[in-house]
Amino acid sequence: MSTIADNIELVGSRIRAAALAANRDEHSVHLLAVSKTKPAQALREAYAAGLRDFGENYLQEALGKQLELADLPLIWHFIGPIQSNKTRAIAEHFAWVHSVDRLKIAQRLSEQRPADLPPLNICIQVNVSGEASKSGCTPADLPALANAISALPRLKLRGLMAIPEPTEDRAAQDAAFAAVQSLQASLNLPLDTLSMGMSHDLESAIAQGATWVRIGTALFGARDYGQP
Ligand SMILES: *Cc1c(COP(=O)(O)O)cnc(C)c1O
Repeated sequence: MSTIADNIELVGSRIRAAALAANRDEHSVHLLAVSKTKPAQALREAYAAGLRDFGENYLQEALGKQLELADLPLIWHFIGPIQSNKTRAIAEHFAWVHSVDRLKIAQRLSEQRPADLPPLNICIQVNVSGEASKSGCTPADLPALANAISALPRLKLRGLMAIPEPTEDRAAQDAAFAAVQSLQASLNLPLDTLSMGMSHDLESAIAQGATWVRIGTALFGARDYGQP
């Protein structure tokens, strides 16, 4: 059975190969370890093997792991859907939020970001798969949302995040990620981040400019949602 350290090696070589194929500096692609449903011990192993950035989707679960892992200098990213009654805890306990898709949530995060912490790094989640996805703002709504968020004082708008409809068809993957990149380019804002690519499609995402790939299964194995 492969260990988390072995998996990190494999994912690292996939990232390097994809960056090389795209003529990109491998260091321009960052690995976000998506640890939802995985126990604190798995994150500890990933930390020991060199990872620092962890992505979580469920607030209560994330806060529990943050307590258990308080002895490690981990960087926490919130990547799941956000309800308005969860914004205060997210503003207090995370360095990044990748899944902002409406202004009301961004305003609350800005108001609730503690004064002693640096601005909260934000990606706007954009829906490039139309009807197939319920999360994410529409491409049509993106420019106004991005301008409004970039004016909020306690947030730092870094870029876009997307979760295209899953497909094994490389051309379809490329088209979806290219659409995200061109939306980003069409915004007249100083953005440096494209959060896109998961275990099955990181090669395509890197070819289309991803700066964060969010990887769960390929690092930690399949998730079992039946277990607490
Ligand atoms: C679960 C999740 C991932 C990781 O997906 P894998 O296919 O397991 O790599 C990435 N991004 C988001 C937003 C997720 O919810």
